[in-house]
Amino acid sequence: MCNTGVRVKLIDRYGRLIKDLRISVTPRCNLHCLYCHPLGYEQAEPPGSLGVEDVRHFLQAMQMLGLESVRFTGGEPLVRKELPQMIAVAAELGIPDIAITTNGLLFKRKARELVAAGLRRINLSMDAVTPEVFRRMTRGGQVERVWEAIETAWELGLHPVKVNAVMIRGMNEEEVIPLATLSLHHPLEVRFLEYMHLDNSNPELYRARFVPGAETRARLEAHFGPLEPVEHDPTAPARVYRIPGAVGRVGFINPVSEPFCSKCSRLRLTADKKLRPCLLTELEMDIAWAFAAPNPVEALVDAILIATDRKPAFGNTLPTLRERVMVGIGG
Ligand code: SAM
Repeated sequence: MCNTGVRVKLIDRYGRLIKDLRISVTPRCNLHCLYCHPLGYEQAEPPGSLGVEDVRHFLQAMQMLGLESVRFTGGEPLVRKELPQMIAVAAELGIPDIAITTNGLLFKRKARELVAAGLRRINLSMDAVTPEVFRRMTRGGQVERVWEAIETAWELGLHPVKVNAVMIRGMNEEEVIPLATLSLHHPLEVRFLEYMHLDNSNPELYRARFVPGAETRARLEAHFGPLEPVEHDPTAPARVYRIPGAVGRVGFINPVSEPFCSKCSRLRLTADKKLRPCLLTELEMDIAWAFAAPNPVEALVDAILIATDRKPAFGNTLPTLRERVMVGIGG
């Protein structure tokens, strides 16, 4: 397949089209969000971690298999100094959709270089508007810095700008209305995410903290009235609505109460060169061998085909102890 340069579609054994890639460029993060980054889980850059040329080879292989979008994540992608070169490689290869997911703390400083490299879209994590609640959830973060990142993204013409808030009972339920209110006057898509058990907390604590998306939506509708459905990509995980009269939108991502495995279109590559066909299972393939092969692109195509073949029909959303926590996988 590699030798012909022919592009094909990557379809798994359950008929799902695999067209979206997440690359975690580092397991390091400059925040310690309590649902993502357990205290004491400090990771250095893994030895032999993914370099710019590795990203090029992987993207070339995925491109031959019909790649449509790449999102760089982490850890915190902006702490990886090679991120602009990685984005530039994706742009050079002509990948149509190049995005990052970031906590935004370093964005204002790096934004121009990233946009010049080819960045087109950004998702920012902001679990609360109230500084004290944000500080507690992120263990020390300043929400003002995220707001600066949002304004910088608008100034530079990134579109759409999306905000992700993970809902945790006892922490940020009261933030639902202030967060959604941001969408009234600003071109933002504010998305409420259900908390997934990816952080090795104990199952009872997880269950106590879990907030179903339906409850978040009911809270919004009790305040703003019925939400208006908005036309959106039906294969994407978020269900998108508008508060009547709002400029922006709100969305719900409910992987636990309404799993979207049947439309999953993703593969994930980690900074330590593991390929993960599913976020919610432990399954991962060490593909360092393929990056080191004499013809890496060809070897990576093989590795991708094997990983796709192993992609499970469903992930496991029940609380289970996991070896690798979210900060090391890449959300
Ligand atoms: N550091 C970046 C950031 O903060 O956006 C990128 C990495 S972070 C792992 C990516 C996304 O995963 C964030 O939006 C975060 O809120 C989400 N996330 C992390 N842990 C999660 C969990 N246990 N359940 C649901 N979403 C989670």
